[in-house]
Amino acid sequence: MKFETKAIHAGIEPDSATGAIMTPIYQTSTYAQPRPGEHKGYEYSRTLNPTRHALEKNLSALENAKHGLAFGSGLAAIDACMRLLDPGDEVISTNDLYGGTYRLFTKVHERYGLKFHFAGMQNSGGIENLINENTKMIWVETPTNPTMNIIDIAAFAEVAKKHKLILVADNTFASPFLQNPLDLGADIVMHSVTKYIGGHSDVIMGFLALNDDVLREKLAFIQNSVGAVCGPMDAFLVLRGIKTLHLRMERHCENGAKVAHWLKAHPKVDKVHWPGFESHPNHAVAKSQMRDFGGMISFSLVGDNIDQAFDLISKMRVFTIAESLGGVESLAGHPATMTHSAIPKEERAKIGITDSLIRLSVGIEHIDDIIADLEQALS
Ligand SMILES: *Cc1c(COP(=O)(O)O)cnc(C)c1O
Repeated sequence: MKFETKAIHAGIEPDSATGAIMTPIYQTSTYAQPRPGEHKGYEYSRTLNPTRHALEKNLSALENAKHGLAFGSGLAAIDACMRLLDPGDEVISTNDLYGGTYRLFTKVHERYGLKFHFAGMQNSGGIENLINENTKMIWVETPTNPTMNIIDIAAFAEVAKKHKLILVADNTFASPFLQNPLDLGADIVMHSVTKYIGGHSDVIMGFLALNDDVLREKLAFIQNSVGAVCGPMDAFLVLRGIKTLHLRMERHCENGAKVAHWLKAHPKVDKVHWPGFESHPNHAVAKSQMRDFGGMISFSLVGDNIDQAFDLISKMRVFTIAESLGGVESLAGHPATMTHSAIPKEERAKIGITDSLIRLSVGIEHIDDIIADLEQALS
């Protein structure tokens, strides 16, 4: 089945009790058992809930995965991955990652004995010297947030296989419509469903998709034991959002490409980060592992002045200044003071998060209105 058909049908069946076409919101914590231990697979909603179960089947199909687990947030899903490890274990992570992930790694899991190495991953060489007998996991995010670097997932899958490490790919920016890391050799795909998959800025949710049965058992145990699950209403909203994921992504990509080219030609704009440019350092990798280039763009201003950047985003009217991304509406953010403020300034500078860097999540409004808004804000 093609992606568009799976988005609408995978894991979704008319409700067995009523024939309802849409998956009902099973707003229940528990389930009647005719005799103790007798049930239809549902005992308690932390362990499994029918609405969440339908979502897990649907979304794992979109990642061509055998298994899927939904969590209460993207960070809860990342946290579950870290709980696969033991004190003393080491993780090699891209140094260019979501600020909240960096905070979870360094401020929470380091306290429990995990060790993190942050490395540039624009080419797959250069991390082998960080691998030792304690190394257990490689963490990649691609495209990266907010500088839109591209990591070659297949190349890191090879490194992971060679050293028997678990490769996790944060696929939030691409969404399963643009990129399927498991097909490229990753062991676990992680999503902040909050972003493109939910798509309507109304849900916080995380997801893990994977093929390995043993890893699935461990993660399901963690999901149930820790209890960071999503509620049935949220699962319903995401199932609804996914039905148009392909249509939304096509428009995000189309608008994103137009905005990227327009910004690049503007005299007040210095650098534009977008993997669709042939001049992007890993354009060839992006082209081979992604279906299109997405709607996320970041750019800096000539002179790199923070006040100028603040003035510019404050003048925007179609774009709203806000955290988050991937919703139908265009959003603008200032990574250095918003999403990435948890990363120390020296670390930020190393990865190109300059003072004037502005991140755009290009929505699906009419492109003329989006460009006109940027034009008046930059004037
Ligand atoms: C938002 C985000 C997360 C965290 O997800 P939440 O749903 O906010 O917990 C992780 N990774 C990336 C790339 C994100 O954009």
